[in-house]
Amino acid sequence: MTPGLDATWVDQLMDDLFPLCRSITGNGNRATLARVGKEIDLTVHEVPTGTPVLDWLVPNEWNLNRGRLWGPDGDLVADTDNCNLHVVGYSHAVKGELSLSQIANHLHSNPDMPWSVPYRTAYYAQTWGFCLPYDDHASLLPGMYTVDLDATLEPGALTYGELVVPGTSDREVLVSTHICHPSMANDNLTGIAAAVALARWALSAQRHLTYRFVFIPGTIGSITWLARNRDVVPRIAHGLVLTGLGDPGPLTYKRSRRGDTGTDRVLARVLADRGGQVIDWYPYGYDERQYCSLGFDLPIGRLSRTMHGTYPQYHTSADDLSFVSAERVLAAVDVATEALELFDERRPLTNTAPEGEPQLGRRGLFAKIGGTIGNASKESTYLWLLSLADGDTDVVDVAARAGLPADEVALAAARLRDAGLLAQG
Ligand code: ZN
Repeated sequence: MTPGLDATWVDQLMDDLFPLCRSITGNGNRATLARVGKEIDLTVHEVPTGTPVLDWLVPNEWNLNRGRLWGPDGDLVADTDNCNLHVVGYSHAVKGELSLSQIANHLHSNPDMPWSVPYRTAYYAQTWGFCLPYDDHASLLPGMYTVDLDATLEPGALTYGELVVPGTSDREVLVSTHICHPSMANDNLTGIAAAVALARWALSAQRHLTYRFVFIPGTIGSITWLARNRDVVPRIAHGLVLTGLGDPGPLTYKRSRRGDTGTDRVLARVLADRGGQVIDWYPYGYDERQYCSLGFDLPIGRLSRTMHGTYPQYHTSADDLSFVSAERVLAAVDVATEALELFDERRPLTNTAPEGEPQLGRRGLFAKIGGTIGNASKESTYLWLLSLADGDTDVVDVAARAGLPADEVALAAARLRDAGLLAQG
C-alpha cells in the first residue's frame, strides 16, 4: 500500500466528491477534476462542443443550477439541492405551470426501489424530466404543478483529466475511470478513488513502463480520448478500466475482447492468488467497449466487483456512501497495484548461466544445510525461474506454469537478477 492512502483518505476523497453534480460535461466535472488535482498533478483538457471525435461530435455543455417541482398544494415534490439525481441529466430549462397529465411523461421512478431516486439521463434526446422515489410518484395528486428547472445546455466543452507518469520505456499502461455520474458512490466514486491511489503508486518510484491515468466522462470521453491520442494507442501494452469497486461483491476482472492478452494473463494470475473471479468479454459495460472496439482492440480489461445493473442500488440514490466501504476500495487498489507491478515485470527473462544448474549456495540463494523443508518453496521458485527463463518467458508465465503466486516469483526473479543469474529484457 502506498503510504498515506488509508481508509480515512478514501472516505475523505469520496465525501468531497459525492455532492458534485457531474455529467458528461459541465462545471461538476471541472470541480471533480480540481478535487482530484489536489491529490495528483492532473492536466485538464477542454475539448470544444462540435469537435468531431471518431463517429461522434462533442455535445453541448450542460450545467444544472437547480431543479424544483412543486405540487398543487405548494409542497416541494423534488429539489436538486437535496439530491441531484432528481433532474434527468441533460434536461433543458423549463419554467411554468403544468398539469399532472402534461408532466406525466417527464416523471421517472423505479418501482423496484420505491424509496430511492433513480438516475436517468437524456444526453442526446433534447427533453427534460424529474426523477422521484416511486412512493412519491404514485401518490401525486391531479392539479397544477410548478416547474422551475434552471439549467443551461449550450456550446462549451467536454472536460477530462490526464496524468502521465513517464517510465524508462515509452510503452504504456492506461488506467481509465469515468467521472460522469452525479451523486452515486459505487458507480462511480470508487473508481475515481482507486485510480487516484494507483496514480500515487506510479508516482512513488521510477517505473519501467509509462503509466497514464485518464479521468473521463463515460463513452463520449473515451471516444474523445482515443480520437485525440492515435499516436499513443500503439504504445499501450496494458490497461485497466476501473469502476464499481466498493460494493460487497467479489473482485471481478472482465477480460479484454481478445481474451488472451498479457493484461488478461496478469489479472487471471493475480485474482487466482487473491480469490477474485475472471469473466469473459461482452460488448457492453463501461469504457472497455471503446478501448476494445475492433479498430483499437487494446489489451485493456475491467476491474470491478458486482456486475453493473445486477445490484438493486445500481443507478439510484441508494448507491450512496453507506453502500460502499473504503476497505473494499483499498482491497481493490491492492490487487490493481499488484497487477501494475506485474505489468512492469512482464519483460522476457533470460537465464545467464543456463548450462547445468548454477551454484545457488555460493550466492547465498540456497540453504546452507541441505534437506530442510523450510526453504524448499523459495528454492523451487528459483529453480522454476532458471528452468523457464529462455528469453521468451516472463514472470507471469513462470507463475502460471509453476502454480506459484506471481508476487513471490517476481521477488525471486529480482534476487536472481541481483545475483547476476537472470537478465530481464
Ligand atoms: Zn453507471
